[in-house]
Amino acid sequence: MAIKFIDEIDLKGKTVLARFDFNVPIDKTDPSKITDTTRIDEAIPTINLLIKMGVKKLVLMSHLGRPKGPEKKYSLLPVATYLAQKLEEEVVLTESAVDAGIKTLLTLSHPRLILLENLRFQKEEEANDPAFAKTLASYAEYYVNDAFGTAHRKHASTYGVVQHFKNKALGGLLLRREIEALDKVVHHPQHPFVAIMGGAKVSDKIKIIENILSEVDQLLIGGAMAYPFLLAKGIKIGKSLCSDEDVKLAKGILQLPTGQKIVLPADHIASSSLEGEPITVNTTEIPDDLMGLDIGPNTLKKFKDCLKNSKTVLWNGPMGYFENSNFSSGTFAVAQILSELSNAFTLVGGGDSVSAVKKSGLEKKIGHVSTGGGASLEYIEDGSLVGINALKFGVN
Ligand code: AMP
Repeated sequence: MAIKFIDEIDLKGKTVLARFDFNVPIDKTDPSKITDTTRIDEAIPTINLLIKMGVKKLVLMSHLGRPKGPEKKYSLLPVATYLAQKLEEEVVLTESAVDAGIKTLLTLSHPRLILLENLRFQKEEEANDPAFAKTLASYAEYYVNDAFGTAHRKHASTYGVVQHFKNKALGGLLLRREIEALDKVVHHPQHPFVAIMGGAKVSDKIKIIENILSEVDQLLIGGAMAYPFLLAKGIKIGKSLCSDEDVKLAKGILQLPTGQKIVLPADHIASSSLEGEPITVNTTEIPDDLMGLDIGPNTLKKFKDCLKNSKTVLWNGPMGYFENSNFSSGTFAVAQILSELSNAFTLVGGGDSVSAVKKSGLEKKIGHVSTGGGASLEYIEDGSLVGINALKFGVN
């Protein structure tokens, strides 16, 4: 069954409950300031379309952070303020998602836009509590999910609520863009298909590595993710970040018939400590007193060569300890290489590689930069997400 999206239905005069991912970073010193508004900006086209269609009421909902009950620093007030500015329309923030006043607000002709306070102030949200889902559903005739970043969560607002909207649960425009982009990689990738994986923990990404190996033509591994693989091949890695468990997992992967598709670093930028001076190590082996913190220039050449004829590229995870500028070159160079691949569909998913692409200013030259780190990885792993399946098949 296919998802119905908002532009396939006439919602004029209807009340709509819409789930977004407004989980934006808030300035630690000034809680009224949002430090990156991308997630809200990405939701604006859906909100604007609903307004343009002439919905009677639009009840917006989201979570922010991981509050343990109502906590002022996790209030959606800065989001309400920003939305009102962007949309040039009043946005009323409710006291809570279950505030008794919401029902009254819904009977008034004004305001049209109502933002429910942080859903996670109610523990029932993450517990997918049926009564909480029912209360949320009581606010509107239609439900829209545009929260791709949370679509892998089986929560009341992303899952349980759908039960109450038979044939009236729709996908938003951002959700569609994310699914279409991910499907190009997950369901019908053009070959050569090259994946680049980085970051720190093999164990977190083991399933995705195994799955992806049967699909890709090559898998380039960088970042701390590379060291368990190097060690598993008997190559010394000095004091680089690496756990015994990860080496065991890496050994298993290298023994798979598809293991030969893995391409590992040939050289490194290393140092005596995380904050130490960068030293180029021209060999695959890293001396005992050094830790690898970035991929080296020869590795970059090797990676560039693997990528040059590719038709599909998936990148997840930084190539080193890129938060320190001494060790960020590899990560930014990979972003640059991807931005120059004119014949390939390039997809960047996962928090740190996304922020590297944004920092480098190359976002516009990448095929798709996913707004959901965990969600995009799970989609690649499983071919769908629980929130998306709820829209497709309903919830019993
Ligand atoms: P992940 O969440 O698995 O994508 O890991 C991202 C984190 O891995 C970032 O904070 C990076 O700084 C860190 N990282 C990547 N490569 C290295 C490395 N060689 N040594 C230490 N940390 C690294």
